[in-house]
Amino acid sequence: MLLLYYLTAIYYIRASMTNQTSKNKKHAFDYDLIAIGGGSGGLSVAERAALYGAKCAVIEAGKIGGTCVNVGCVPKKVMWFGGSLAHSLEHAKDYGFDVSNNGFDWSALVKKREDYISGINNWYHSYLKDSNIDEIQGYAKFVDAHTLDVDGKQITAEKIVIAPGTKPSVPDIPGAEHGITSDGFFALTSQPKKVAVVGAGYIAVEIAGVLNSLGTDVALFIRKGQFLRSFDAMLRESLMEAMINDGVDLMAHTQVAELIREDNGTLTLVCDQGKRTEGFDQVIWAIGREPNTQGMNIEKAGVASDADGYVPCNDYQETNIKNIYSLGDVTRRAQLTPVAIAAGRRMADRLYGGMKGRHLNYALIPTVVFSHPPIGTVGLTEEEAKTEHGAAVKIYSSRFTAMYNAMTEHKVETAMKLVVVGAEEKVVGCHIIGPGADEMLQGFAVAIRMGANKADLDDTIAIHPTSSEELVTMR
Ligand code: FAD
Ligand code: NDP
Repeated sequence: MLLLYYLTAIYYIRASMTNQTSKNKKHAFDYDLIAIGGGSGGLSVAERAALYGAKCAVIEAGKIGGTCVNVGCVPKKVMWFGGSLAHSLEHAKDYGFDVSNNGFDWSALVKKREDYISGINNWYHSYLKDSNIDEIQGYAKFVDAHTLDVDGKQITAEKIVIAPGTKPSVPDIPGAEHGITSDGFFALTSQPKKVAVVGAGYIAVEIAGVLNSLGTDVALFIRKGQFLRSFDAMLRESLMEAMINDGVDLMAHTQVAELIREDNGTLTLVCDQGKRTEGFDQVIWAIGREPNTQGMNIEKAGVASDADGYVPCNDYQETNIKNIYSLGDVTRRAQLTPVAIAAGRRMADRLYGGMKGRHLNYALIPTVVFSHPPIGTVGLTEEEAKTEHGAAVKIYSSRFTAMYNAMTEHKVETAMKLVVVGAEEKVVGCHIIGPGADEMLQGFAVAIRMGANKADLDDTIAIHPTSSEELVTMR
């Protein structure tokens, strides 16, 4: 009943806003706002702007929903759940169950995953229609600052938002074409037996973790001594230990120089010092991503890009051209779905909702790495805090085996760290690795954003028995 009331209220507010705007306005352009890219950023800005009555279109060259829905967060999380379930099956005997794992059907999981994603795609098609946003299928190129060419048809807009996202990078080495990227990983319809993952960021550790949990033989090639180098040292060291314990072959200080497809179809990696590692049926490049701006002719609108093709913007998503904005991964900042969504919505609130000055504050963005076990982190690392605040920094940390794992033969460590500053012990960083870390962090991120001190955490009654209670009882 309450939901019905709420939905009816939204409908009337929207209808009255739309009527007011369209009555008052004569459109000199085809649209008030066009978003190039139907991913997290483009969809969010258009959706919120349309709510205020702006006439909007989203241009999408590929599948609606963008990277996150089609080849990012969503299929990744489904695979991560699969990997986690494999661990649970392994643990079941320790809880008294007589179960055996009689195999894993990769293609069945992939089919269900893709059906789920098609459902999201279809939901978006209807949602855009119901929201009076035109969905234009095609590839957008700039003609001038107000005009786009979409596969031969010209469309104009008062404001244009550049939100084309990024694509995976492939190294410039002989034989690189024999490898696949995360896009290729999601296209696999059968489970590879032996895989080399090359890279040291989120995608490398997440894919390596999923494959390893599901029973693939995994080698992770990192060119330096550690992965996730921008993360707190406790997190990356704990994850490295856990992955090695779980059987991932961690090849540190190993730069891949060549990839060879052998006559028997397997792949051989040749490393910079000539060492060869053979017998892989897939090699996955996870060495970072690059902006989808090549071929968009942004220079025809006078829009400046950096040396790698990203489109920089100020805190208000404004590029160097007055009516053109950039949003999401293409800005290079905090390449996460909720960031693209939040920045897009705030931008529309400011441009069409009368919320002067509204913009996204990029500080204290929480993030999770869906590794096995997962990592949750927000704020300054210990190292960053010490560089910024010197001796005023104090560290609280804890390492333990969670009760769930006390029962299991396969042990997983949980580790937590709070970084606090000054006499008032203001919490400036919170880092967690261990089962449940992915779901633990969100609430702590709220508290830290509100300026919580260590005493505020200590004053909060613990929830027992949980792992997260450790964060409000640390000494
Ligand atoms: P995108 O979502 O990439 O959307 C851009 C769209 O623009 C694309 O659909 C593209 O086809 C289209 N396009 C490009 N050029 C043109 C053109 N000229 N004309 C028309 N259309 C065009 N983030 C998280 O927060 N959590 C996660 O767990 C997570 N997991 C990830 C896992 C993987 C494997 C990857 C690759 C990314 C993951 N991310 C995750 C990051 C997240 O997907 C991105 O931050 C987010 O999708 C960025 O949104 P965007 O709108 O900037 O770009
Ligand atoms: P990242 O930029 O996170 O990591 C790529 C890393 O690979 C580099 O940092 C570098 O680490 C290493 N590298 C670069 N070039 C080479 C090379 N030639 N050979 C070997 N290693 C190389 O990129 P990802 O593609 O993993 O992810 C892109 C972004 O997508 C992330 O930063 C994140 O914002 C987002 N994402 C978020 C997820 C989440 O929220 N859970 C999941 C997946 C992606 P080094 O210098 O240490 O060698």
